[in-house]
Amino acid sequence: MNTKQHDLELMALSSEAAKCNLCPRMSQSSAVLSLSNGNIKAPVLFVGEAPGRMGADRSMIPFHGDKAGHNFEDLLAQVGINRYSIFVTNAALCNPRDSKGNNATPSQTELRNCSTFLRKQIELVNPKLVVSIGGSSLAALSNIDEHSLSLREHVRTIHPWFGRKLIPAYHPGQRAMIHRSFANQLSDYQFIAEQIGRINKSKRKSPARPIDNDIASLASEIISSARENTSLFALHKLFYLAECEAIKRTGARLTSAYVIRQKDGPYFVDLHPYRIKKAIPGVRVRIDNDVITLKADDTDLFENTTHPDNTLSSISREIISDIIAKYGDLDSASLKRMVYLTKPMKKILRREKAEKVNLYNQPIEFG
Ligand code: SF4
Repeated sequence: MNTKQHDLELMALSSEAAKCNLCPRMSQSSAVLSLSNGNIKAPVLFVGEAPGRMGADRSMIPFHGDKAGHNFEDLLAQVGINRYSIFVTNAALCNPRDSKGNNATPSQTELRNCSTFLRKQIELVNPKLVVSIGGSSLAALSNIDEHSLSLREHVRTIHPWFGRKLIPAYHPGQRAMIHRSFANQLSDYQFIAEQIGRINKSKRKSPARPIDNDIASLASEIISSARENTSLFALHKLFYLAECEAIKRTGARLTSAYVIRQKDGPYFVDLHPYRIKKAIPGVRVRIDNDVITLKADDTDLFENTTHPDNTLSSISREIISDIIAKYGDLDSASLKRMVYLTKPMKKILRREKAEKVNLYNQPIEFG
């Protein structure tokens, strides 16, 4: 099956899940399953418990937008696992809530209900390695292929399961950190990264190494060079245009950041406002008339950032400076138009037209 067919299969599964109402208490929630879950041919698939109320239930991207999502993204980033190379889903595709409206753990029945969707995703992606995130997720995998693993005993160990390998890991939410600290989870993810490295060794081609791969410093450079009160929308689009320009000039991207096609164009998962605030303390994030704006503090941005050395290469600086000079003053509509004229976006738009499908949340391929 080629990638296009894989995508279509996933989209069909996503429509099926969107109509599913097997779990009565999740009737208000939408199933989080789309192209934004990741690489449909990934060698590794992560299975969480269920979408969080403030995270995936809102962003529709698994493990993105809430504290657990930020921790998960930090863990991946710190051990060098790229979202382009993985597929992320949940054992229950919808968000379970308790009577007060807070996140709840999916019941055994709900996990069983959703196990058909989970099995289909695993069979479609066909990963060599599955990582369960949290106790519920590990238990849910038993509905597909019975095992006797427990999180406490078998964390950070590798086991044969369902014709592939399985590694149990803890949930990255704040509550689970009581049982497994961030430092320990980091070691778990280092182990996972090593296993992925072994799988990838047998693969032939890897993409060109990114020029800087320092998304925080590059975002700082854009914010401090662009006009005052850059919108979050503009930051994403200018960064994307800089990535395209880097490919044109050097054959490599600036970063390996995960970028997906959303309704209004490319969206950098790493540039969520929370992550911007955390990675670039010298930037102020404000909401003015429903528009999120970013402003560099009066002091030098780089003096306050966690990247004090600001070791960006001269080519990155040059590209960003040229992009700001060319597009920095455009309004949102014109900026969006420019983005849609780039090769990666044109490719997606052509596919959408030819196949009469909407590829929102499709990961953007720059190569
Ligand atoms: S959690 Fe799964 S089984 Fe339950 S309603 Fe959502 S999609 Fe259906």
